[in-house]
Amino acid sequence: MGQTEHTRPATVAAQALGFVDAATGAIVPPVHPSTTYERDADNRLLGGRLYSRADNPSYDQVEAVITALEGGAASAVFASGMGAATAVFLALRPGDHVLVPRVIYWALRGWLFDWAEAWGLRIEEVDMTRPSVVAAAVRPGHTKLIWTETPANPTLAITDIEALAGVARKAGATLAVDSTFATPVHTQPIALGADIVMHSATKYLNGHSDVVAGTLTTRAQDDLWARIKTVRVQGGAVLGPFEAWLLLRGMRTLFARVPAQSRAAQAIAERFAAHPRVAAVLYPGLPGFDGHAVAARQMKGGFGGMMSLRVKGGSQGALAAMGRLRVWKRATSLGGVESLVEHRASVEGPQSTTPPDLLRMSVGLEDPADLIADIEAALG
Ligand SMILES: *Cc1c(COP(=O)(O)O)cnc(C)c1O
Repeated sequence: MGQTEHTRPATVAAQALGFVDAATGAIVPPVHPSTTYERDADNRLLGGRLYSRADNPSYDQVEAVITALEGGAASAVFASGMGAATAVFLALRPGDHVLVPRVIYWALRGWLFDWAEAWGLRIEEVDMTRPSVVAAAVRPGHTKLIWTETPANPTLAITDIEALAGVARKAGATLAVDSTFATPVHTQPIALGADIVMHSATKYLNGHSDVVAGTLTTRAQDDLWARIKTVRVQGGAVLGPFEAWLLLRGMRTLFARVPAQSRAAQAIAERFAAHPRVAAVLYPGLPGFDGHAVAARQMKGGFGGMMSLRVKGGSQGALAAMGRLRVWKRATSLGGVESLVEHRASVEGPQSTTPPDLLRMSVGLEDPADLIADIEAALG
């Protein structure tokens, strides 16, 4: 893989761990579309590879870069963030007890209660922002996984990874962190004690709104990790080789994109925190925000590019303001170079617990002055 020694994560990302193709000297890895691999006359695989549902050489470099950025032992790419997240739950066994946060990515919550429960997992929602509540909910011998998401989608609720790692260790459970919003630029959950880190790589890791992908990184190549890899091989939620290639390309600019997006988000949050038409700005970088102290401890160099605005006038007020935006694009998803806004309550439907006055904002790489002026005009 032509890896050289690097110390700083921005260098790791920009050079994709110093990749140089041994055969050609190319500094960008090739794509390997082949689904199958030849055997020699003695029936031995020529390159140790068998079939592309098992693994693909196009994954090697992207997985190595994520492992380095997260400070883990190994990583696996998946066909989507959901493919990655569900692999962790499917690697458990029916009857296992799992603690999940009340504020959690909506589609994952749906899967947990529509499918994982019926399959046999015992899923319990807890207030993940309070480690003592989580500790009290642990069922000794039965709780096998504590799953958290920080900052959480869409309220930006912050959970204390270090404190939860302590709870998990005591319970003999795995702590998995959906770190999609934080990115490895701002948080390394494994260094804080987590066992597994998950990303919807569709968002910041790829960063250009043109790939659906997910990743998992593990602290140790243990039994659970072997089962997770088996879920990918047998379940088949494999990333396409072209998507893996695009993801690696996107990740090279991660450390240029995310700090700029975080700086802009901080400026926007501060600008509108006391606006007369705004009920609240939910952003971990604001000193008045609930989880600010924990976020300041576990997030380095910024608080991310995601924020939510609660607009006065309830659902109607929020939808009307959103309708007047001209620079921000009204679309779901996040983490791309273009700023996106979404009224989560209407997307999530009648079961939603998201406040109806909430607009989720993904801050892109436009001139922050344009983004601010647009919100200013839309609020009226
Ligand atoms: C988007 C998202 C997911 C799901 O990822 P997909 O790539 O859409 O499958 C999971 N968690 C968070 C926090 C997300 O924003």
